[in-house]
Amino acid sequence: SSWWGQVEMGPPDAILGVTEAFKKDSNPNKMNLGVGAYRDDSGKPFVLQCVRKAEQMIADSGLDKEYSPIAGNAEFCKASAKLAFGDDSPVIKEGLISTVQALSGTGALRVGAAFLDKFHGSKEVYLPKPSWGNHTPIFKHSGMNVKSYRYYDPQTYGLDEAGCFEDISNIPEGSVILLHACAHNPTGVDPKPEQWKEMSKIIKERKLLPFIDMAYQGFASGDVDRDGFAVRHFVEEGHNLILAQSYSKNMGLYGERVGALTFVCSSPDEAKRVESQVKIVIRPMYSNPPINGARIAATILNNPQLHGQWLVEVKDMADRIITMREQLVANLTKEGSTHNWQHITDQIGMFCFTGLKEQQVERLTKDFSVFLTKDGRISIAGVSSKNVAYLGHAIHEVTK
Ligand code: PMP
Repeated sequence: SSWWGQVEMGPPDAILGVTEAFKKDSNPNKMNLGVGAYRDDSGKPFVLQCVRKAEQMIADSGLDKEYSPIAGNAEFCKASAKLAFGDDSPVIKEGLISTVQALSGTGALRVGAAFLDKFHGSKEVYLPKPSWGNHTPIFKHSGMNVKSYRYYDPQTYGLDEAGCFEDISNIPEGSVILLHACAHNPTGVDPKPEQWKEMSKIIKERKLLPFIDMAYQGFASGDVDRDGFAVRHFVEEGHNLILAQSYSKNMGLYGERVGALTFVCSSPDEAKRVESQVKIVIRPMYSNPPINGARIAATILNNPQLHGQWLVEVKDMADRIITMREQLVANLTKEGSTHNWQHITDQIGMFCFTGLKEQQVERLTKDFSVFLTKDGRISIAGVSSKNVAYLGHAIHEVTK
């Protein structure tokens, strides 16, 4: 008999399964709107020029391949914190933070969650409903209990402000609350600055620990400072918090796995103690992080010329997404759709929660070879000036 005869077949990944189905379709007009990675206007994966230049500089400098420290590349960590909190942030100047390199956003969340499981009193983490599909397993695998608070309102395709505030007001003291800093995945719905302020107030009153997931800084509005508003406001308001950063989207470094995990602490001594324990969490997981991607990101962030070029390129990506949202609505109008599609342009970031029902999604895929997740989420990155009219037509056909 075999050791693993009793192992059952697991279900395919909800998002990667969409790509599998897309690949098998022979329709020349087919569209893959499942994938959460940026594509240029010709539908191709895109490598930023600043990344190419940084890679060349790194290759020319002939660095060795020694192990990274457990906490990763220190220059990278410093630059990441500055990007998140702002160059002149008091928490950086006063030594209140501890930042470690992470295996992109996912790894930052996973290490942060493992640290919470070990050191945080409450084991409850509250996620917005809905949230990125991987949040629940990440926290569960770390030993945390996952709960939720109201966030998205299917009636307005926007924020359920009253429900969100009410639910947060009822979260037990000491719990962890997960927040998406910007470009909420999967809904594309972000709180407005005034709503963030109110949330910060309630979270402080309830004595909750904010764990902020910032996977899209710069990618949402095109401006890294504007997208950093929520994080910076929470820090200004004196929250001690945890921040997960990713460079997958804003630098297009997906497969390089570059991210950072930061703890904002109440004293420099506490920051040092926390960092010592984060390293003890990391060591048995993967010993130390890979060196290449962090070198690329650090080179871009720390070289003024490359940094400037990056800001232009990240804005170009965000602008293309915003333009595609506008063109999609324009095409729906042109098709004669009488529905209100304003949420398509109100929402922000890579994803749009269209509001399409499951049967409409099925028809889109079956009749038009447009592939998306069952919840009606489309990745705007998969839309281009060449296929936006086709998409507008297809959506109109299944919603009229
Ligand atoms: N958080 C959110 C909300 C995301 O959408 C993603 C990417 N899909 C991540 C974290 C992590 O991605 P990565 O591990 O590639 O940084």
